[in-house]
Amino acid sequence: MPSNKKVLLLPGDGIGPEVTHQAARILEYFDKKRIASFDVKEGLVGGAAIDKDSTPVTDATMRIAMESDAVLLGAVGGPKWDSLPFSQKPERGLLRLRKDMELFANLRPAFVFDALVGASTLKREVVEGLDMLIIRELTGGVYFGEPRGITNLPDGSRKGVNTQVYTTAEIVRVARIAFELARKRKRRLCSVEKANVMESGVLWREEVQKLHDSEFKDVELSHMYADNCAMQLVRNPKQFDVIVTDNLFGDILSDCAAMLTGSLGMLPSASLGAPDKSGVRKALYEPVHGSAPDIAGKNLANPLASILSLAMMLRYSFDLDAEAKLVERAVESTLGQGLRTGDIMQASMKRVATIEMGDAVLRELAKLA
Ligand code: NAD
Repeated sequence: MPSNKKVLLLPGDGIGPEVTHQAARILEYFDKKRIASFDVKEGLVGGAAIDKDSTPVTDATMRIAMESDAVLLGAVGGPKWDSLPFSQKPERGLLRLRKDMELFANLRPAFVFDALVGASTLKREVVEGLDMLIIRELTGGVYFGEPRGITNLPDGSRKGVNTQVYTTAEIVRVARIAFELARKRKRRLCSVEKANVMESGVLWREEVQKLHDSEFKDVELSHMYADNCAMQLVRNPKQFDVIVTDNLFGDILSDCAAMLTGSLGMLPSASLGAPDKSGVRKALYEPVHGSAPDIAGKNLANPLASILSLAMMLRYSFDLDAEAKLVERAVESTLGQGLRTGDIMQASMKRVATIEMGDAVLRELAKLA
């Protein structure tokens, strides 16, 4: 059996613990079956950490995160902590994790399970069989560029400034991840910017093309302006395999692509950092949804986004692609049996609770394995 893989669970707030603990059962399953061995630790982040330690993430938890091969996060935040000053809010815990772990590539897959085709607002033929991956640059661009701020002008009015800035190194490291992932899929990469009106977009396009020509000629590369990409995502999303784009465009386009699939409770994500000397990347996995305080603690949350985030962990952190596929197929066949949590409930389906959904996925996993 492969050696111990160090995983840190940070369930966080609201429905975070409920969904994360269902995902953790999958790790236990593989461990018990001696398919892979995991050394799982658990810590606090967000409001839960504020309540216990008066900080959204302690230095001790950060140290464990930095020493782990992968972190599985639930969600942070909730009304209880909304009135805290910005610097002490639960979200700061997540931001610190992303910053200290230098997670510069955000992976957001958008795939539609056959059983949920009807949940999309788009026509069946547009989304049926959709399986794409958006890679968003996460630590650069206009959200971080200097100068920034609001200044007063002599005429009494004000000026707001943000700066879109990218260096060759920032573009190349995220493009490299995108090419590598495209290689493991259908070998098609679409790079998205606005080179028609932005110099940073011109640089982005040139650097991605250069990397393609020198190292990734086996991947089919295309370039697209971000406005056209938004249009194409709702017109014909199945034309895409992998998309790579900057922080701002990625923020918008990944939400757009996510909604093609119909439900927030189904959407996983991964954030990856640079590989260390032994080739291991720091990585954080989390469902796209938040802490859903309206249903927290009621055993109503859909755990599938967290379970699918765990599948991404198996694939990207541990090279366990076959096991990741097993988890995804177990989710697919659970849905195929008509089991639904409230958020994805459809006519004539069976409504189940969080734990029952976790039970069902494990049952299917055991059948498929
Ligand atoms: P949300 O994603 O928590 O909830 C939006 C709606 O979707 C709610 O009606 C909720 O019940 C439902 N929902 C979300 N996930 C679900 C699931 N797994 N199963 C069933 N239903 C689900 O977004 P929000 O309401 O805007 O934010 C609530 C809190 O979460 C806020 O404090 C916000 O700051 C925080 N938040 C955290 C993250 C994160 O930790 N990454 C992301 C987004 C929001």
